[in-house]
Amino acid sequence: MRARKPFRWPLAALLAALCLAALALTGCASAAGPGPAEPTAKSAGGASGGAGPQATPEARREAELQREFAAQTYYERLDRLNAVAWPLATAGEPLCRQRGRVHQSLGLVADSFNRRDNRRWFAALSGLWGVGEDTPVVIGVMPGGPAHLAGVRRGDVLRAAKGKPLDVSGNSADLTRRLDDLAAGGPVDLELVRAGKPLTLTIPAPKAICDTRFTVILGDAVNAYADGKNVFATYGAMNLFAKDEDLAVVLGHELAHNILGHVRQDASGKATGATTPQQEAEADAVGLYFTARAGFNIKDAPGVWRRLAAQNPTHISAGGDHPSTAARFLNLEAVRDEILMRQAAGLPLIPRPRVAPTQ
Ligand SMILES: [Zn+2]
Repeated sequence: MRARKPFRWPLAALLAALCLAALALTGCASAAGPGPAEPTAKSAGGASGGAGPQATPEARREAELQREFAAQTYYERLDRLNAVAWPLATAGEPLCRQRGRVHQSLGLVADSFNRRDNRRWFAALSGLWGVGEDTPVVIGVMPGGPAHLAGVRRGDVLRAAKGKPLDVSGNSADLTRRLDDLAAGGPVDLELVRAGKPLTLTIPAPKAICDTRFTVILGDAVNAYADGKNVFATYGAMNLFAKDEDLAVVLGHELAHNILGHVRQDASGKATGATTPQQEAEADAVGLYFTARAGFNIKDAPGVWRRLAAQNPTHISAGGDHPSTAARFLNLEAVRDEILMRQAAGLPLIPRPRVAPTQ
């Protein structure tokens, strides 16, 4: 399963990958939008159905099967990301509220596969879920969240919300945000189709969470980054941080960048510029508070930096925008001890202000 045809990356995703390779676990700016960075139609096989110009019917069927495996793998990773991110975003809500960075969430992720670049990638899902292009579908459900408690499941087709068909323009984040916005006016009735049968479920109330969306992106490079509104993690990062408590440290760090306003955006909302060493230290500290509040074991949290250093030794003594992995290990150790002391003393897990100029 390791050998695969190389993907042709969209430019935005390529820039993001370079950014990651250079900086590793930064709040660095990226032009990549939410949603999986899918291969383009050309790299997925062009007009031949995904198995080259001389494709036989058998090869086409095999290509479809492989797309289905790939899609299932993507959703398994999205499930893991959601299972780690949802506690961060809910338990951290009081910290986010202090900064005015909260939104009401139904606890689901929807997509409509209406982007040209992901139609082929998700073609296999039309068979899996019985949906066509531009059909809004639930692709993720936050464990213990409002949608989950109301009985919503992945693969549910969204026919209408509050009696109206959904506007499927834009990407997955746009669609999910519009659904969340509906919750501001009271309970949300979802008209769904599950296994071909209509079903109506009511989500009585949304949940207030930190205003950040979490997304998995393809790519072996070990990278996670924030753009002010979203946090992205590559397959490479999810592989290296195979333990959920490690992944939580990484996602907590990126969430902190967003909540602390470290990511500068241009007039169009695109992230620009790099973070300062002080901001990195602040994001490490506040991020670990998010991680602890979410109930993850933080005793070995500083070890994240050793694992990253082992994978990428050039960062051990890196200067410039990012402190070295050695300095970050020591910083995180001090923050961990501070949090453990607070937990032992029954004190609230609210980080003390740190000297970190936000720009
Ligand atoms: Zn960072």
